[in-house]
Amino acid sequence: MSRLVVVSNRVALPRETRAGGLASALEAALQERGGLWFGWSGNLADAGEPAIHTQQAGQVEYALLDLTRQEYDRYYLGFSNRTLWPLLHFRPTLLGYRRADRDGYLRVNRLFAHHLSQRLQPDDLVWVHDYHLIPLAAELRRIGVDARMGFFLHIPVPPPALLSMLPQHEALLGTLAEYDLVGVQGTHDRNALLDYFRDFLGATTGADGNVTMPSGRRFRIAAFPIGIDTGKVARLAERSIEHATTLRLAQSLAGRRLAIGVDRLDYSKGLPQRFEAFAHFLSQHPGWRSRISFLQIAPPSRGEVPEYRELRTQLERTAGATNGRYAEPDWVPIRYLNRSFNQATLAGYYRLADIGLVTPLRDGMNLVAKEYIASQAAADPGVLILSRFAGAAEELPEAVLVNPLDVDDIADAIETALTMPLAERRERWQAMFDTVSSNDIAHWRSSFVEALEHPA
Ligand code: UDP
Repeated sequence: MSRLVVVSNRVALPRETRAGGLASALEAALQERGGLWFGWSGNLADAGEPAIHTQQAGQVEYALLDLTRQEYDRYYLGFSNRTLWPLLHFRPTLLGYRRADRDGYLRVNRLFAHHLSQRLQPDDLVWVHDYHLIPLAAELRRIGVDARMGFFLHIPVPPPALLSMLPQHEALLGTLAEYDLVGVQGTHDRNALLDYFRDFLGATTGADGNVTMPSGRRFRIAAFPIGIDTGKVARLAERSIEHATTLRLAQSLAGRRLAIGVDRLDYSKGLPQRFEAFAHFLSQHPGWRSRISFLQIAPPSRGEVPEYRELRTQLERTAGATNGRYAEPDWVPIRYLNRSFNQATLAGYYRLADIGLVTPLRDGMNLVAKEYIASQAAADPGVLILSRFAGAAEELPEAVLVNPLDVDDIADAIETALTMPLAERRERWQAMFDTVSSNDIAHWRSSFVEALEHPA
């Protein structure tokens, strides 16, 4: 069996508390086959020879590279998070582009390739993750690496016309052809990328996802919807009933219903519309005032990018206005928390919640939707309200699907969820639970590795 080499912007070191389902799945695959996990250390270092930190755990080596402040600004904050993130989330008007950022992005990919190539062994299987590292295979090929290489894009792919707004898009996106397998979340993403390669890069594409470039080079684009560690989340949720944190939340509700949202503070998550929809629901249904609370957990992220700071200010205003308008001395409609919680606490909160509100404007997958389903009690499950534009909607059509831009639609869905009969809740939940159980994170990573190692 070949060794597995995982490359991602950030690396989850063994026993790190922030390691989520993805990190444990990749770690399990690495331990099984032996391998290397390579990425940025998260540290900034002075210019000069960059420091590589290595650490061994069982059969796995971790190699972490420091970046300089300038590399971080251009590669990470600039091109990855101000250019590619908004573009791929269908938000060109939020896009900031500077040629210096793109050059910095390419330089960091070249730096990764240089240091990684020195650690590669013949026969290694290389699996690269996400939008930070699109041109990595091309950089590795340039210096003679001929390993099998796969790429997985965790975020959405917009239609070709939008992709083509990126300055010099052909030069960047064309490098995807240097992988042997490009995985995306859903069939929409797959079709959009196939269309792009055909329309803009002159490739020939087949229904099986095979792509032949004008140069004759062949590779494949396929959908691998990512899952969660369903069994683990379900166990955490079940055990959480005894935890003090869950009990505290339950007691504070004093018998009221609960809707929950859990999202990084990101403009792709549709938070302003969700807050507005909840306020609209209260205005349209006075009978529900004082009888339902909405808990929104929103840990801040990317605070160095201006658009994220503006969003934070906007949400503080909206939550404050709604609470000011509707709160009672013993009830606050929106409980808005800018901090993060661990998986066990979240599982308990999901289980208590009658409604999971997951309304991103665009999302590659949205794991919170799947975690919410995994956490419910079979006898009395809650209702998932899910954006049509989350990748998860393709797999979970039994959710109450909404258009996240339509505040009335979300408000109606809240009412539908609150009044849904138990039999219907059970039926919808069972179908979704079966899906998240069979396509869990272990299934996801083994299907990708299998497809990379043994092409059909
Ligand atoms: N998460 C967490 N603590 C928090 C908020 C979120 O552990 O306070 C986790 C959440 O459980 C999920 C992940 O972060 O596993 C978010 O993944 P998702 O696909 O929903 O969104 P992303 O942040 O990747 O855009």
